[in-house]
Amino acid sequence: MRNYGFFGGAFTSLIVALAPHMGIAQDGEDPRQVLFTNVNIFDGVSETLIENGSVLVEGNLIKSVSADVMDVPDAFTVDGEGRTLMPGLIDMHSHLCFRNGMLEFRGDYDQMAAGAYTATAMQDYLDQGFTTARDAGCNILGVAKAVNNNIVPGPRLFPSGAFLSQTGGHGDTGNFNDRMGDQDKLEAAQVSYIVDGVDEVTKAARHNLRAGATQIKIMAGGGVASEFDPLHMTQFSLEEMEAIVGVAEDYGTYVLAHAYHDNSVNRAIDAGVRVIEHNFLVSEETIIRMKEEGVALSVQSVIAFEGFDPDLVEQITFFSADQKAKAVKVNSGAKQMLDWAVKHDLLIVTGGDMFGPDLFRQADNIISFNDRVLDNPHYALKTATSNAAEVLGFSGEMNPYKEGTLGTIAAGGYADIILVDGNPLEDLNTITRDNVDFVMKDGLVYKNWLPDDRAPAFQPAGPARDAYFGLN
Ligand SMILES: [Zn+2]
Repeated sequence: MRNYGFFGGAFTSLIVALAPHMGIAQDGEDPRQVLFTNVNIFDGVSETLIENGSVLVEGNLIKSVSADVMDVPDAFTVDGEGRTLMPGLIDMHSHLCFRNGMLEFRGDYDQMAAGAYTATAMQDYLDQGFTTARDAGCNILGVAKAVNNNIVPGPRLFPSGAFLSQTGGHGDTGNFNDRMGDQDKLEAAQVSYIVDGVDEVTKAARHNLRAGATQIKIMAGGGVASEFDPLHMTQFSLEEMEAIVGVAEDYGTYVLAHAYHDNSVNRAIDAGVRVIEHNFLVSEETIIRMKEEGVALSVQSVIAFEGFDPDLVEQITFFSADQKAKAVKVNSGAKQMLDWAVKHDLLIVTGGDMFGPDLFRQADNIISFNDRVLDNPHYALKTATSNAAEVLGFSGEMNPYKEGTLGTIAAGGYADIILVDGNPLEDLNTITRDNVDFVMKDGLVYKNWLPDDRAPAFQPAGPARDAYFGLN
């Protein structure tokens, strides 16, 4: 019979050791300690590995990191067998409730199904070694609360809640024959809010933050997959954007914007937006302004280069001719924009925007960015670790995870740790799912392939999830 890791021999004792209270000590009991030995450590920042080091986890935090062999008699020891230990990966642009795009859950299923699908998507993130996701728009605020309360397994979530779009903007998925004031189904499901004017945008931003959004996502200009907005269009007035940013700042957090071109991006920066998603058609001047004003860039390399490759776009059956033309245009600007972004040293993070058929390969966004633009695995890895954590920090007081740091392997950091087979600083393919052999989030183990009985890749309704619930 196959060994699914969680049930496996030696490892069972780790499960038992961690079982009673999610890695947190009961009253009067010392917190559980887990000692990783025989690992080479990528700490999320350095250009070299700490060879044959040790990492001690206590409860849900990293207690110490050492270049030497540590001796901690009472700790449960995990022998890394020479693997690389590194921070759990961070995706800065997820849509965890999307399977076949924005529209599927509009009418074909109900919200229970959307939630159930989201649960499998989150499990999949964990299986790939992604222990944190910043969600760029979905009805996911209740899910985030459930994950944080250990009701369902999932990565740490920085949810934006419903994205904000104007009428006819990128988030408007209504029907051509809608009358003014009709609410479309995505809006009814709180995946998007179609809002116009300062009063409406203010209310929508507040409604998201009231329910736990850690930042606000807006649609600041035309998009590819949407029906009513040409790519060149600028969305939301300056006053509307300023109102949204004002609400976010009153909560101590920030706004990220979907935007492709100079007009959208510059208006967003004028209003105080701090992170731009996509950005593929802007000029070098705008890139320089982003650098000067500390505006970060979230990169969707797979979509821009592979998804919108002109030959492949032709084959997308559900795109109109207009949408195909928009996709090709985005593809044409991607390489130049990213070269400028690197040249001017923007704060860059990986933000896959990959769901449905691409859900299973989040690491490819990091690898693609490296292959197409960087040729620097160290830089690429930072976009999913320390750089990403820096941008997550923009959430300030709305950051739900204040007990430790994220994105680095350092004392005082959260025990979000993965072990990969090989050296990612030399070969980025070592961070793809099949090479991610061990996943810990918040001191708990979600995947263990260390005994050589390898489990098959993630199975949505299979033993991995049962095993998780076995931890409680
Ligand atoms: Zn997106």
